[in-house]
Amino acid sequence: MGESTRHICGISGGKDSSALALYLRDRVPKMEYFFCDTGAELPETYEFLTRLEVILGKPIARLNSERGFDHWFEVFRGALPSPQMRWCTKVMKIKPIEAWIGDEPAISYVAIRADEANRKGYISTKPNIESRFPFVEDGVDHDGVMKILDDAGIGLPDYYEWRTRSGCYFCFYQRKAEWVGLAERHPELYERAIAIEQKVLLDAGVDGDADFSERAMSGRQYTWSGGETLVQLRSRRQEILDKHAAAMDRIRQVRVEVPVLEALAEALDTEDDTVSCTVCAL
Ligand code: SF4
Repeated sequence: MGESTRHICGISGGKDSSALALYLRDRVPKMEYFFCDTGAELPETYEFLTRLEVILGKPIARLNSERGFDHWFEVFRGALPSPQMRWCTKVMKIKPIEAWIGDEPAISYVAIRADEANRKGYISTKPNIESRFPFVEDGVDHDGVMKILDDAGIGLPDYYEWRTRSGCYFCFYQRKAEWVGLAERHPELYERAIAIEQKVLLDAGVDGDADFSERAMSGRQYTWSGGETLVQLRSRRQEILDKHAAAMDRIRQVRVEVPVLEALAEALDTEDDTVSCTVCAL
């Protein structure tokens, strides 16, 4: 890696990658920032990126903006992306990143925190791209990230009020309470997610009122959220909110001083703590 080596930092719209961009702003003056735009990000993410650009004093390159989800959904013949078939990450994130980098030598800075020993971000297999992990090397943990964001005066993107993972509004990694949060904050986006799901059901000739439990559907992916359609999920809104509130209360009883974001993350993890998209949510 020499003088011509590019230095790149991907920003997902999440807190860790945003903090890393700020952390490296003065340490790596040649840094190029990028964001893979699926065309389906939350409005809060776009708004946050605009504010971040001002503080960074540089534009954040938007990759993939020509070909968003709708295009690829057609290419994949109306198949919903899922944890088992994550074509979305591959075609809307990884390929555009690698095309943008090309064959020049590059150092990619990845926002894995010091307290996330087992997590992996975007780590290229291309030989010209070397990955570095400044937060791991410098011992920056969750509190360190929050301090960087506070010190910069930017704080968190607003979606952290109900959702802890960045990414598409319809991301299948959302937990039930996060879907309810989307329905309440952005009913039009919830309706769009329903419309995509209904198209999948219609094309497959599956009744939207069917029992979508895993056993009944033998593992095939017809719905964004496990075991039910978004229409069915919405009809259980109060049940989901009550369960979520009870989980928050339990956490607060054990740890009275717990910050709101931590309580929210833990409560959501009680439903599903599998690692979400390792490229999209950092
Ligand atoms: S945020 Fe979710 S839906 Fe969007 S590209 Fe990533 S994994 Fe796929």
